[in-house]
Amino acid sequence: EQQKWGALKDKQTVSADGRRFEVAANVGTFADIIDAQEDGAEGIGLLRTEFLYMNREELPDEEQQFTAYKRFVAAMNQQHVVARTLDIGGDKKLGMVKLPREANPYLGFRAIRIGLARPEILRPQLRALLRSSVYGRLAIMFPMIATIEEFKQARAILDEEKDKLEKEGYQIAKNIEVGMMLEIPAVAVMAEHFAKYVDFFSIGSNDLVQYMFAVDRGNQEVAYLYQELHPAVLRMVRRVIEAAHAEGKWVGMCGEMASNPIAVPLLMAMGLDEFSMNSSQILRIRSLINQLSTRKLQPLVHRAINAETAANVRKLVEEYVPEVK
Ligand code: PEP
Ligand code: MG
Repeated sequence: EQQKWGALKDKQTVSADGRRFEVAANVGTFADIIDAQEDGAEGIGLLRTEFLYMNREELPDEEQQFTAYKRFVAAMNQQHVVARTLDIGGDKKLGMVKLPREANPYLGFRAIRIGLARPEILRPQLRALLRSSVYGRLAIMFPMIATIEEFKQARAILDEEKDKLEKEGYQIAKNIEVGMMLEIPAVAVMAEHFAKYVDFFSIGSNDLVQYMFAVDRGNQEVAYLYQELHPAVLRMVRRVIEAAHAEGKWVGMCGEMASNPIAVPLLMAMGLDEFSMNSSQILRIRSLINQLSTRKLQPLVHRAINAETAANVRKLVEEYVPEVK
């Protein structure tokens, strides 16, 4: 089995009816990059930058961050590296950034909200990322964007730092894509507006599902309500893909759903462009995509979207796509 998948590594991921997909890795350390390459990643769909801030007394400065990002970007050559700016708060805490005690941390001061409120954290990170862009093919995305204003504000800070760096004599890549994580239901509802401003969306299904069902993603008591295969989720994802494609933008997914074999046939048939996941799942998912035809899956998507429950969706996919077993 492993050997059969191994042969896929050097080929592109193409469905049986000839549509190209990118299957990328989620990474959080440099060691993960080595695994990603060995496991057949076609890029990095999510670089979690939190690792740089862990186990230290003080914030990493621009120079330290630059050295780290350059290493990641250069290691992937001309393959995509999608770096996410610092995503703390919620369940992720850092000693050196004092956060308020909150009754509902997942609904509170987290991710880009912290970045915009504390530009002394966001700006050096963006400068370091921008400087690393000339060593490969970097894209930058902001986590937990809720409104158009937030995206514009974050983007304006990025553009300001880019101008400053250029005036200071640094080389910055010309083609850096700037996108956002799509993790909040209100954003999915408004996707056609956001799509005008972003270069891409990366759907964070872990948070999107949590917020859609009002269910804490880490709470076992209510885990039965955490349903990423629910038709409500499929409808939202389809909406986002259609809105993005109408503006000529691409859509990835970097939550756990992107490597769920039951979800993958539906996602590919809906036109998701990039699937990003833990490296260990990559060849399995690439092999599955290779075997399936997006055209033949259309009636299944139609039925899944119109199903009543997640259990029905699972049953439909298992019946229609024996390859997922
Ligand atoms: C997500 O929310 O799906 C995601 C990829 O981000 P994280 O799991 O780090 O919140
Ligand atoms: Mg998230």
